[in-house]
Amino acid sequence: MIRFGPSGNSDKFFEDGLKESVQAPKWLNDMGLTSYEYPLTLGRFLSEKTAKAIGEEAKKYNIEVSVHAPYFINFCNPTKESQESNAKYLLTTLNNLRNLGGNRCIFHSGTQMKMTREEALSNLKNNFLNFLPKFYDAGFDDMWLMPETMGKYSQVGNVDEIIEMASWDKSVVPCFDFGHINCIMQGALKSKQDFLDIFNKSIDKLGFEKTNNCHIHFSKIKYSDKGEVSHLTFEDTDFGPNFEPMIDAIVQLGIKPNIICESRGTQAIDAKKILEYFLSLH
Ligand SMILES: [Zn+2]
Repeated sequence: MIRFGPSGNSDKFFEDGLKESVQAPKWLNDMGLTSYEYPLTLGRFLSEKTAKAIGEEAKKYNIEVSVHAPYFINFCNPTKESQESNAKYLLTTLNNLRNLGGNRCIFHSGTQMKMTREEALSNLKNNFLNFLPKFYDAGFDDMWLMPETMGKYSQVGNVDEIIEMASWDKSVVPCFDFGHINCIMQGALKSKQDFLDIFNKSIDKLGFEKTNNCHIHFSKIKYSDKGEVSHLTFEDTDFGPNFEPMIDAIVQLGIKPNIICESRGTQAIDAKKILEYFLSLH
């Protein structure tokens, strides 16, 4: 099924008097939402007890939980220390994900640093392929590693690079962040066809199943000539993209992604707006 939900806890969650993430699944279910991304982006500690409690609630209320790994991961960095820390961060995140009862681990692949794009991409491939045996040895073969399309030119992970990465191993499935993609395209992500072009590229290279199971991040994002500047809400009218053409493309292709809204503060309300548009088509 196509799932809709927020990243983290929205302003409204707290305004409704709730405090703990363990309360989120029921609150999301009451809103008609079916998905919840737990941000471990700043490397914060999540205890096994808390994660399992959230996971139990999620199961009870039909919420699929995904996690976003720490921002510090950088597979382009040539140093051994960096690669050891990538493995540590990802394996810890995957362990949290297991306790939460989910199988989608979203992460940022890396940054170009002072290298050429070719060097950065070559390091990315070598380092990532070196990491994979650790992933399998640790018993995470039922999990998906989901590299995300990035919003700044200095970051590695445009649409082609992420689709390429997802072709390296069966456990790698793409995360399309359309807010980011629109930043990289300088606002040119507009029509249903624009979204179809991206999904079809994925279907051509990765096949239907991986595209069907892809993860989506969606928000309007302000950008400059360097790319992403800041996340906005759906109230903003200066920056895109709009969600309607994305949903039109998804419905046309019959794919069933997990759609996470990353609006600033209004992520649950905005996720519901996407859901309502989707439901209005049926
Ligand atoms: Zn991200």
